[in-house]
Amino acid sequence: MSTSKDLYQVLEIPTDADDVTLKKAYRRLAKRYHPDLNKGSADAEERFKEVAYAHQVLSDPEKRRLYDQFGHDGLVEGFDPKTYEHASSWQGFTGNANAGAGAGVNFGDLLGGLFSHMAAGGPMPGGFASGFAKAPASQPAEDIDLKQKVSLRDVAAGTSVEVRYPRRTQCKRCYGQGAEPGSQARVCGVCNGLGRNKLSHGSVLSGQPCHSCNGTGRRIETVCRKCAGVGVTQEEQILKVRIPQGARDQGRVRVRGKGHVDKNGQCGDLLVRLEVHNDTQFERRGDDLYVTLPIPIPEAVLGAVIDVPTLTGSLKMTIPPGTDANRRLRLKGKGMPKRDQIAGDLYVSVQIVVPRHIDKLSQGLIEHFAELNPQNPRE
Ligand SMILES: [Zn+2]
Ligand SMILES: [Zn+2]
Repeated sequence: MSTSKDLYQVLEIPTDADDVTLKKAYRRLAKRYHPDLNKGSADAEERFKEVAYAHQVLSDPEKRRLYDQFGHDGLVEGFDPKTYEHASSWQGFTGNANAGAGAGVNFGDLLGGLFSHMAAGGPMPGGFASGFAKAPASQPAEDIDLKQKVSLRDVAAGTSVEVRYPRRTQCKRCYGQGAEPGSQARVCGVCNGLGRNKLSHGSVLSGQPCHSCNGTGRRIETVCRKCAGVGVTQEEQILKVRIPQGARDQGRVRVRGKGHVDKNGQCGDLLVRLEVHNDTQFERRGDDLYVTLPIPIPEAVLGAVIDVPTLTGSLKMTIPPGTDANRRLRLKGKGMPKRDQIAGDLYVSVQIVVPRHIDKLSQGLIEHFAELNPQNPRE
């Protein structure tokens, strides 16, 4: 005898029915569908067999336990709960004979595709069937894209920034099962946990999503209070993300496993797209940095050793005597620092500052300087 129907529904009893209720229901229905009382009706005979089978299973505590936990799959000869528990994560779940499909067909891939397809459309419409809540559709593990503004100084230093974002995680109340703690989440009896119903011709692959369980393959008695049976909840994630030293604008940082988590605990990644701010003092071109530095006339004429700012501190630079305005001095390797790589260069453009107002004595000195240096640079 094999039936794909829910055995509790066949006997018209709740899933927590005791032995007395079970026996009463069996007697009542066996009488109703007994072949002798139904003039040989084939339909009644079929129902009679189903009722007898349901009673046989549910009156046996061990069989009932297996059925409650694993559905019809648990009743197949040679059934191994250990293998099944592993398979119930839908990873590498290979169809068994009960599913009506050939060995070697990987249902993990098939159902994985189905689940993500369903998640896109959200839970299907439909109410409750015989008091059993239908599990809403699953939500897949996905990568999360995030934009993060960072300063050029942060990029130069390779510091960490704190990011906050909403993230789906496996429900901590039901551990992704969708059922209230203490309540059973059973394999759907209509589709045998496959999420699809087999057509009379052809394989289960071409079947329609199971209406009894919304294609999830599972049926839940009491849905989890926290996640409403979805198996995932949303929470705010706060995370420190390390900025790679020398990262480019629009560069992406991948943080493994920090994306959305599905009900089975599979994780997507977090992808942080860096928006590197322009700095008010430094201009970045590739890995090189450009800065303009004002110097007074005496330093330009006589030369000097001055302090030059960088993104990570300051350093000494020699201004050669006779430095022209707009002269660009290169400091090799003092540009954008890069982790494990040669840094860019720092270019310092000199800007000679001419005083607007000078005292009489300085004016006399400049006039004397002009007399001593009569050459005209325009000639
Ligand atoms: Zn939950
Ligand atoms: Zn189903």
